[in-house]
Amino acid sequence: MTGILYLCATPIGNLDDMTFRAVKILREVDLIAAEDTRHTRKLLTHFDIHTPLIRYDEFSKVQQGEKILQELLAGKNIACVSDAGLPAISDPGADLVKLAVNSNIKVCPIPGANAALSALICSGLSTEKFSFVGFLPKSKKNRDDILQKISEREETLIFYEAPHRILKTLEEFEKIFGDRNISIARELTKIHEEFLRGKISEVKNFLTEPKGEFVIVVEGYSGEKIFENPVEDFFEIYKKFLDTGIDKKTAIRETAKKLNLSRREIYNKIIEHEKNFGG
Ligand code: SAM
Repeated sequence: MTGILYLCATPIGNLDDMTFRAVKILREVDLIAAEDTRHTRKLLTHFDIHTPLIRYDEFSKVQQGEKILQELLAGKNIACVSDAGLPAISDPGADLVKLAVNSNIKVCPIPGANAALSALICSGLSTEKFSFVGFLPKSKKNRDDILQKISEREETLIFYEAPHRILKTLEEFEKIFGDRNISIARELTKIHEEFLRGKISEVKNFLTEPKGEFVIVVEGYSGEKIFENPVEDFFEIYKKFLDTGIDKKTAIRETAKKLNLSRREIYNKIIEHEKNFGG
């Protein structure tokens, strides 16, 4: 008989969010695979759990994954936990699940706290359909590519972001998505939990010195990208390109590139602008 791999949620701030079942399973399993053994030991001590710990993180996952798999195959039950929330969601665990699934080992969820869904349900934005984007890559080019790709998705979008990057990220969102409604969840389940809701341009102003942990929830695409100064933005830019002596088609292409919009959108806007205000 092979063992069971449990994916066990832990609190994202408030220890009272630990579930009875999580405590029971963590007490009963043979081994706990933890992202940070020192961090998890504090949690275990709090709940009077004395199960042995083994490291399983991004750096050790290849070697440790194989070791954990052998234990599972030998019949041991193992719980995988991350520092907070659900393992395998922007945290180690997914590769371990793949290993277990490929070896026909039973994988069992122990649900509980998760930052993305907690932020979504309090956002006031549509919860009917949503995409979890998680952390964006660090390189500007890769970030822009992803944001461009998802800029016309109609469902609500959920991002994780570090405090030192959040303002820059909101600026990128504003530039690529337009001035949409967002909800920022800060320090969920902790003493200083707060939600900042409004247009991106408004919320940015509240975040002068961002501290803590953040989830950004962004309204989906509604059919047009609204910019704070739409007329000025695109038409001024378009005119400046024309002034350099290039033809209209190239000026539209360059404007679209600069504003991260499609050529069709810029073309339509220009036609409308010229109809209303002249060339
Ligand atoms: N596995 C976790 C989960 O299920 O939510 C996510 C871990 S990921 C490494 C950490 C990121 O989740 C943080 O940078 C932040 O964006 C978000 N996060 C985690 N705890 C949070 C909290 N209490 N309040 C707001 N965001 C949180």
